[in-house]
Amino acid sequence: MIRKVWDKKTFRQVFYFLLIAVSIMLLWLIGQKLFNFETLFEAYELKTYDLRVGMATKHRTHNPNIVILAIDDPSLEILEEDLGRWPWPRDVYADAIEYMEQNGVDSIAFDLMFVGSQKGFEDKDLKLAQTIGKYDNVYVSMNFDVNEGAKSAPELPKKLSINLENNSKNINFAGDDANYVYCRLILDGIIKATDKIGFINFRRDPEDNISRRSPTFFKYQDNYYPYLALKLGADYIKRHENLDFNKFTITKDNKLTFGSRIFKLDDRGSMIIKWYKSQDKKVYKTYDYIPFWKVYKKTLPPDYFKDKIVWIGATAVSLYDIKSTPVSSLHPGVEVQATVLNNIIDNHSVKRVSPWVDLVISLVLSLLVALVVIKIREPIFSSLIAIFIILAYIFAASALLDHYMLWVGIVSQTTFIILTFTVMFIIKYVLKAKDFEYTYKLATTDGLTDLYNHRYFQEKLKESIKKADKNRSNFSIVLIDIDFFKKFNDTYGHQAGDEVLRQVGQVLKRSVKTNDMVARYGGEEMVIIVADADTNAAVLIADRICKTIAARKFNLGQGLEVNVTISLGVATYSLHGKTSTELIEFADKGLYRAKKNGRNQVGALESEEQQCTEQNA
Ligand code: GH3
Ligand code: MG
Ligand code: MG
Repeated sequence: MIRKVWDKKTFRQVFYFLLIAVSIMLLWLIGQKLFNFETLFEAYELKTYDLRVGMATKHRTHNPNIVILAIDDPSLEILEEDLGRWPWPRDVYADAIEYMEQNGVDSIAFDLMFVGSQKGFEDKDLKLAQTIGKYDNVYVSMNFDVNEGAKSAPELPKKLSINLENNSKNINFAGDDANYVYCRLILDGIIKATDKIGFINFRRDPEDNISRRSPTFFKYQDNYYPYLALKLGADYIKRHENLDFNKFTITKDNKLTFGSRIFKLDDRGSMIIKWYKSQDKKVYKTYDYIPFWKVYKKTLPPDYFKDKIVWIGATAVSLYDIKSTPVSSLHPGVEVQATVLNNIIDNHSVKRVSPWVDLVISLVLSLLVALVVIKIREPIFSSLIAIFIILAYIFAASALLDHYMLWVGIVSQTTFIILTFTVMFIIKYVLKAKDFEYTYKLATTDGLTDLYNHRYFQEKLKESIKKADKNRSNFSIVLIDIDFFKKFNDTYGHQAGDEVLRQVGQVLKRSVKTNDMVARYGGEEMVIIVADADTNAAVLIADRICKTIAARKFNLGQGLEVNVTISLGVATYSLHGKTSTELIEFADKGLYRAKKNGRNQVGALESEEQQCTEQNA
């Protein structure tokens, strides 16, 4: 009852599978080099990631204390009378800082860059710098750049850099397409007044220019400088969790650790952003937005800013700073930075597994599918199961991302499964066809003479009768028996007899047309079905064969050559019989007459008694 699962055949097929898997991988590597497969697959992989992120439902609650102070269209309009056109004089921001500080704000971050002095408003610039310097929870932004032109790269004060122990060998912090060799400085007064300056260079995936990741550090003139949200987030953790650290560490396997936080970085030193639920889908909006005019006019409840982290950014259509992200093509830049801060506070980040893990998953799934193809007999079922495996894997990969923020690949895995399925399928059916051919031959031919066997002859004879009935045509059979074969065996031995049988079979095969059929009837008797032959034609053929055999020297090896003769009987359908039995009986009678008449001849068609009767008649 126990069926062996690992029989020899399975073993062979698993071996084939491994061979195929290795070949596919080799092709893969060659393809990557020649046709840049990797970029193509990565582009599709990113899309599946976006879809999964869009469907995710867990861990989507944002931090309610993060709010956005928006320089929006109503603010530009309402404040135009007081402040003129944008950009506004910078004491406005100084007043806003004072107002929020008085109301217990946790921290303030400017997604605005105060580059260059405003002519005639130098005193207002100074006021802003002084106000920023007065508080240690106000953060401003700056930008690195590639150098366009001959400007010399400015040096940055040491206080802006960060203490980073980088144990990774493969992270490049120095920029995307070109290295950051230039820094666009903000007001000198601000740089002097504070060290709460972070950098806000954006990061996009080169495959499709969509922002899925956030930078953490930038390398500039041999020092590391922090991304604004990272700088703010680290300070926030220190204050709120009573942690004391002044060092950031990156482990050998690219994990960034500080305080109690761990983030997996890619080879550009970026972390993959985890997105939160949007309150408004049209323009992706997670956090509460406060129009700037409400702060200017002080119309908010006094404790509104208590414990809030406020990001100040421009969201007015005319100033709009829009990014494309996996969850929205219209994503306010300031919102993306707020999301990164939220990730840091919540210790949320998406971890993408290494290419090796992806490869192992591919191999395991392919092996599974290969076994399915091998073990399941019905192609429909094996196809359905393969499709089920793919769907189940996609589902599992989505659940992993949703529940554990773990990004495992889908595209290469699915491709591997489909390729393996196809190749295994083809192999299985080629093997099966070969198997079938072999079994068929075994079932229809005689092992000694390689002629068709008795059973197959009977089948063909019945078929021939049906065909002849349908086409109203004739056919004949010729029954052959070797003369004195018993004596032959006695004289030369059974081996020699077998050899003669084989050679007679060959001669018979060569003597007939392709539509005719030669079979071993049994013992040393053979039979031919001669298609479309009436009695005359069949007798002629029989006679010719009789003479050919008699004239032939049968070589038995070692220089021994012998002669053999045969006797033959002929019968024609439907003249001599209406059934296969009658037909064979008639031919057998002819054969008997040939023997009786001296052998080595074709037997007369009718019995002597009959002939006599006819003559008498
Ligand atoms: P005849 O037909 O001329 O009357 O004489 P015979 O000796 O051929 O007579 P019979 O048909 O009675 O004998 C058939 C012999 O054929 C018996 C057997 O030894 C031999 N024979 C049958 N099948 C095989 C075979 O496969 N190999 C060998 N070597 N001999 C076989
Ligand atoms: Mg016989
Ligand atoms: Mg015989």
